[in-house]
Amino acid sequence: MNTLTENIFETAVRDPKALRAALEEADIVPAALVLVHLTGDVAILDEMRPYIQGGWNYMEQVPEALKKRVRDRLVLALENRAANPDLPVLADHKTLHHIMSASVGKDLPEEYVPLFIEELGLAGENPRSLTWRGDTTSMGLAEFRVVIVGAGLSGICAGVRLKQAGIPFVILERNETVGGTWYENDYPDCGVDTPSHFYSYSFNSNPDWSRYFAKRDEIQKYIEDTTDKFCLREHIRFGVSVQTARLDEESGLWLLHCLDGEERTLTLACNALITAVGHNVPATPKLPGLQDFRGEVLHTARWNADVSLKDKKVAMIGTGASGMQAGPALAPIVRKLTVFQRTPHWAMGNPNYHRTVPEGQKWALRHIPYFNQWARFLIFWAASDSFHDTLFIDPDWEQPDLSLNAKNHQMRENILAYMREQLDGDEVLMRKCTPSYPPYGKRLLRDNHWFRMLKQPNVELETDPIECVTSNGVVTRSGDFHEVDAIVMATGFHASKLLWPMEIVGRGGRTIREIWGDDDPRAYKGMSVPGFPNFFVLAGPNTILSHGGSAIFHSECQVTYILQAIREMVERNLRILEVRRDVHDRYNQLVDDRHRTMVWAHPGVTSWYKNANNRVTMTSPWRLVDFWAMTREFDPNDFICGVAAPDAVAA
Ligand code: NAP
Repeated sequence: MNTLTENIFETAVRDPKALRAALEEADIVPAALVLVHLTGDVAILDEMRPYIQGGWNYMEQVPEALKKRVRDRLVLALENRAANPDLPVLADHKTLHHIMSASVGKDLPEEYVPLFIEELGLAGENPRSLTWRGDTTSMGLAEFRVVIVGAGLSGICAGVRLKQAGIPFVILERNETVGGTWYENDYPDCGVDTPSHFYSYSFNSNPDWSRYFAKRDEIQKYIEDTTDKFCLREHIRFGVSVQTARLDEESGLWLLHCLDGEERTLTLACNALITAVGHNVPATPKLPGLQDFRGEVLHTARWNADVSLKDKKVAMIGTGASGMQAGPALAPIVRKLTVFQRTPHWAMGNPNYHRTVPEGQKWALRHIPYFNQWARFLIFWAASDSFHDTLFIDPDWEQPDLSLNAKNHQMRENILAYMREQLDGDEVLMRKCTPSYPPYGKRLLRDNHWFRMLKQPNVELETDPIECVTSNGVVTRSGDFHEVDAIVMATGFHASKLLWPMEIVGRGGRTIREIWGDDDPRAYKGMSVPGFPNFFVLAGPNTILSHGGSAIFHSECQVTYILQAIREMVERNLRILEVRRDVHDRYNQLVDDRHRTMVWAHPGVTSWYKNANNRVTMTSPWRLVDFWAMTREFDPNDFICGVAAPDAVAA
């Protein structure tokens, strides 16, 4: 039985004019799904099925007469619910499966039904919060301490869940506020390329996103608002950066050595340590002569808004996700923009990328029960698992250099047609911009008017490699000199050097760097490392989603799992909870085996997703439903459990 109350349905129908007006603007597919959810009458969906081609709203072509029928019937259904608040609202498994399948135009595997019941909160709010299995007063919970390093999206997620579970914790954050990567990245036109109604916490959806793909300031505000809504600030120590975390093997405690903003030393101890530091140490290429450049050098990840680039001659190095956004924002204001491209990236148009959300859609998301959930379902599916099967290499494919399989090849053709149209058929630019590896080999970018930018008279695309930098310009290998006043590094992060520059010292005094090296991190389910008990990594090895999906969903899965691990420690008074070596190795073998058949291991791809030995270390090979299933239930049999010494209490 759902916990929705009478008031929610009443709110939807209280102002019939507003409801009608909103429905005129709101997406019709989620509206129909709400209707079927409330009435159980699936016939209308079967009528709509031929006009639905996936989860994106711009792909539906439902005729007006049918839309009107959906709207009329939905108004009646909501009125009926407002008058009969005691009717059950959770549709049965079979109906939910039917709704889901019809709305995405394919027979959805049954395993998705429980995932979406949980993700959408269809069976009640907060399904991912921790449940204790006994009386916590007798468990020493009050003395247990967790430290989270980082108050970005994943650290805040962990904080919310720890707080709900009543587990004492502190978050250490080096910046003066929350947000992490989103706080630090504020280059021109910085924004998200995952749909915002999916790139948000399942426990704190935001019906007010102004755009389908929000820009940085709105995302930062969302993180700040979430922090306040869940009263987390009192748990966060700002301006504190962790230098070293060292395991005390005797007590099982982690001893942290930190510096505050005034370089004063702070020490802390905790029973469990969670790192939530993302991949945000900016990488600047070591270009010969860079130190002699007399102009400004900016990095997208450390933007300095005080530096004006207006009417300047600017070099931008790098054409990944950050360059894709910054370049088109800079081109209209600078005198000349020279883009230095080492490797082209695949970039695809998405009409919603540039759109604001209509007011009627926002009203429906806020006021119509279940509209928000079904809209999230559609976009979750469209932006993630719906195309995961296209990422595998077909061993019999005839054009293995260009693409992976027939569907991937079709994608390639679609993008090329899109690029040709955007570039007005400019074959010179087409050649320069066409990657030599299959789509999805690197993160597929959303076109931020990049190709249109390249057609502007003040923009030049340089594909000759950079030889050196001089005091006033950039020289390429063939000897061409580009005079510039400023250089913008859109050159990404030291992403594969996970947890760097922190020093994490585990069992036997071995550091995580000794074990992982600079680029070979491994962990069980991306979170646990043998030799590092009571230690959990968020956004760790092989957990990055690079084909689609939402990093927030992955964080929520990991946090669910970690909280259950902590519950195990608290309830059993464990001093040590350490992943078994054989379990860890078997899991990583599975990851490696799977990656060998997937796009990121394609020999034509160079990226920070794989290391110098061609092993894919960063991306997750799993469907979202797989990762959800493997993180849903913590299994203590996968871990070595050691009982706590009587005085093992964190200071
Ligand atoms: P990135 O994807 O690593 O791209 C870095 C770019 O710099 C690449 O084009 C790379 O070329 C180039 N580069 C690096 N070193 C170079 C050198 N020595 N000489 C010439 N070119 C060089 O970094 P990013 O664009 O900052 O994005 C990083 C990640 O952040 C993304 O994958 C994404 O996960 C996230 N991100 C997301 C968004 C969003 O949601 N909208 C926005 C920004 C970032 P090669 O390709 O040849 O290596």
